Parts: sequence; structure tokens; C-alpha cells
Amino acid sequence: MSQNTPITVAYGDGIGPEIMAATLEVIKAAGARIDVEEIEVGEKVYLRGVPSGIEPSAWESLRRTKVFLKAPITTPQGGGYKSLNVTIRTMFGLYANVRPCVAYYPFVDTKYPGMDVVIIRENEEDLYTGIEYRQTHDMVQSLKLISRPGSEKIIRYAFEYARAYNRKKVTCFVKDNIMKQTDGLFHKIFERVAAEYPDIQNETWIVDIGSAKLADTPEAFDVVVLPNLYGDILSDVAAQIAGSVGMAGSANIGDQCAMFEAIHGSAPRRAGQNVANPSGLLLGAVLMLVHIGQPEVATRVHNAWLRTLEDGIHTYDIYSEKVSKQKVGTKEFAQAIIERLGQMPQTLKPVNYTSAPKLASVQRALQEPLETKELVGVDVFLEWRDGGPDQLGEAIKRLEGDGLQLTMITNRGAKVWPNGLPETFCTDHWRCRFLASNGQALRPQQVIALLHRLAEAGFDFIQTEHLYTFDGRPAFSTASGE
Ligand code: NAD
Repeated sequence: MSQNTPITVAYGDGIGPEIMAATLEVIKAAGARIDVEEIEVGEKVYLRGVPSGIEPSAWESLRRTKVFLKAPITTPQGGGYKSLNVTIRTMFGLYANVRPCVAYYPFVDTKYPGMDVVIIRENEEDLYTGIEYRQTHDMVQSLKLISRPGSEKIIRYAFEYARAYNRKKVTCFVKDNIMKQTDGLFHKIFERVAAEYPDIQNETWIVDIGSAKLADTPEAFDVVVLPNLYGDILSDVAAQIAGSVGMAGSANIGDQCAMFEAIHGSAPRRAGQNVANPSGLLLGAVLMLVHIGQPEVATRVHNAWLRTLEDGIHTYDIYSEKVSKQKVGTKEFAQAIIERLGQMPQTLKPVNYTSAPKLASVQRALQEPLETKELVGVDVFLEWRDGGPDQLGEAIKRLEGDGLQLTMITNRGAKVWPNGLPETFCTDHWRCRFLASNGQALRPQQVIALLHRLAEAGFDFIQTEHLYTFDGRPAFSTASGE
């Protein structure tokens, strides 16, 4: 029986085939014990009319090997094509996106010689669920979903990662001064999980000033854990300021499967010219080798790669007359690494992946009592174009009754009725808040009866949101100006 680990490989588009060939050549020369199963994903598949960019037969290989080394792909312009990356991450539950961003000064130019930050990005939730609607002629909506188990998993993963790799601090970025429910939940869970890891420092930054600090003083950060959108943006920023987006690899980790890639895209303008830097994908492959239990091969590859950088053998994107000795193409760069297998870097810190870090289970562990949930009101969203807030308030107030009272109307979150300001700009998208008039819990039938009255009166309601309390505490936002 073969001792090799089967892995699924996609050569991708643009520069993908060249950097994948270079990566596989280097890791095989270093002794990687792998059997490659090739699948086709990306542009050609999209253009054959498969909107997901992946053939159904390819899923079979991925489900069997559970390890995917993927070159970047091109998503064709135009509507109708779903992001292959998002599809694979969510279908396989790859909840953690791990992106080490390291400076290789003085061999690769950077303003931050000491930078060594690991970005851990939540990969399945937030605004990336892609649940979007056009609701009125003026308004479109995107749903931001943050769950308790989703947040706990990624935050626990970040602390386990920090412990396994002897990192000192985990930083959380949120915007919970504005998004009190969604980012507020992420922050609250961060604090609860952090309390279980007294050996690791923790801190939370508001994402705007935190990003400014990261871009200005990356040395102040160690491991950073973020919700999906902030993580997507800041991992590119962090990779770029460390040296180049062409140099960073990434791991997408799930409980059962994992995907490894470069963080950059398919750079179509550089394709077919033997100029692309294969380092991002190679470092993705190093993370993969650690994951499949071949840390000694990962170590050989990584140290030989560091030595190649030190020897000034550089692709065009990192070439600089100050430090480079030779400008090489993709193939020659790979060859130079192979020639250095077994050598150690002289100046840069060598790596030593002694074993795959054993991350303790990151399953849900926080004990949450199920609070008592009560329906206390409903927000009804309308498309309405027949006048201003006072006319709408007057018309809707007539539909009160059956225990429901109209308490306010907002437009884009700002209170416009009662007692709104004439300066507030209004669109055709209105939110009418009804609360139980006697302070008692409502029955869903009262909401249905209200909608019936609205429909009979000719109102175009386009969305309803139930308003709940949990153990008596309101679990919905108030309005600006309320
Ligand atoms: P890109 O990352 O492909 O390229 C941006 C620029 O960075 C390139 O013009 C090139 O100058 C440089 N660059 C990137 N990788 C390099 C490398 N390995 N060596 C040398 N230089 C490199 O970003 P883009 O141009 O915005 O996107 C191109 C395509 O890639 C799009 O279709 C996009 O959807 C796709 N994309 C795919 C992935 C993925 O598959 N994971 C990620 C991002 C973008």
C-alpha cells in the first residue's frame, strides 16, 4: 500500500499553472510523500456554463482526499458566476483562514523589518453569506450574519493557534460601537474565550483605528482574529506591507477538510511569461505539508526558500538593485530552491516545524443557557413613495389595534416619525415599528393580522423583522435620534 498522502490539486488560471508546476516540483524534490489527483476548476469550467466554477465530479476527489492545493483562478467578469472560493469554504466548513504575514528584511524591501503577524479570518459568515436583495426601487440589502458557534469556533481556533505556535497575544478587531448586535456578539465571545487562556494576552481594537495601527505599527500585533470582511481586507494589507502579496500563503482549515493557496489572484497579465513569483503558493504548500503530517519536508522547503531569498535570487516583483543579485523567472527560482534543499538561512530566522500543532478541539464549548425568548413587536418595512414621514405616520397609525401600537418610523435607520427633522433625507424604504401596547408578549397571529390590515390598505410591505426580548432584555437596535 502506498505511504503517500493523496491530495487534490487544481492548476487554476493565469499564472496558476506555472506557479503550481514550480511548487509541486520543489516539494517533491524535498521528499513530499504525496499522490496528486488533478481536478479542473475556474475559468474554463465557468465558461462551459457551470456557474459554480467546479464540476460535480471534482467534489468527489475533494471529499475523498480532504486536502486541496489550489492555484488562483480567474472569475469571469459579469453576473451569474458564483465565487468558487466562497463555495468551497462554506460547503466544506473551512471556517478558519490563516494567513501568516512575515517580513524578510533586508532581503525583501519593507518598511517594517520586524513584522511577523498571523491574520486569522473567519471564513463562513458575516457579509460573505451572499444573501442580498433588491427590496424597493431605491434600496438593496445585504445580510450580515454572525453566529455564536461560528464566532466561538474561530476565536477558539485563534487562541489554540497562539498556544501551539508560542505566540504571545491575540487581538480582536470589531466595529461594535456601531454594530452592537453582530460585532457586539463577536466581541463578547472573544472576551469569554480569552478568559480561558490566561497565558495569552488579549486585546480588542475598533477596526478603523486598529487598521490604521496595523498599517503603521505592525510590530505591535501578533495573532489577529477578525470577522470575515475585515479579515479579507486586512490580510491583503498585512501581506502587502510585509513585502508583497506575491509572498503570502494561506490555509483554509475545517474540521474535516482543508484548502491551501496563495493569497494573490491569477494575475492574467503575467501569465505564460515565466515571470510570476511562486512563493505564495509554495508557502501555502508548506502549510499543507505540516497539516498532512510531513513537518520535516515543510521545514526543508521553507529553509531552502529562505536561503534562496538571502542569496538574492529574486523574481521581478521583489527584485531591487539594492539587495538582489539575480532576476529570475518562475522555473529558475524553483530550481534555485531545489539546489538549496538541506541548507539553512544565515540571517533570517530558520523555521522548524517539529510536528503538526495539535489544536485542541475548537468545537463549541461555552455553556449558554437557553434564555426565554418573547415576541414583543415587529418592524414592518415598506416601499412607499406617496409623501413624507408625517403622511405615512398618519396613514399607518390608523392600522394600529389588536394590541399593537405604532411607536416610530425610520428611514435608513434615522427616526423620522414622530417629531422627525425636516432635514433628514428619505428614500422609498421605510421601517414602521410596532410594539405590544400592553407590554405583554405577542402572539404571531397578531403580526399576521397587522400584515393583513396593511395589505388591505394597499401598503407594499417588503420585509418584516420580529422584535424579541431574551430574558426580558430587548434584542434589537434602537434608531438614530430615538
Ligand atoms: P492579482 O493578485 O491576480 O494581481 C494583482 C497584481 O499583483 C498583478 O498584476 C501582479 O502585478 C501582482 N502579482 C500577483 N501575484 C503575483 C505573483 N505570484 N508574482 C508576481 N506578481 C504577482 O489580482 P487581480 O488582478 O485583482 O485579480 C486577477 C484575477 O484573480 C481575477 O479574476 C480575480 O477574481 C482572481 N482572484 C483569484 C483569487 C483566488 O483564486 N484565490 C484571489 C484573488 C483574485
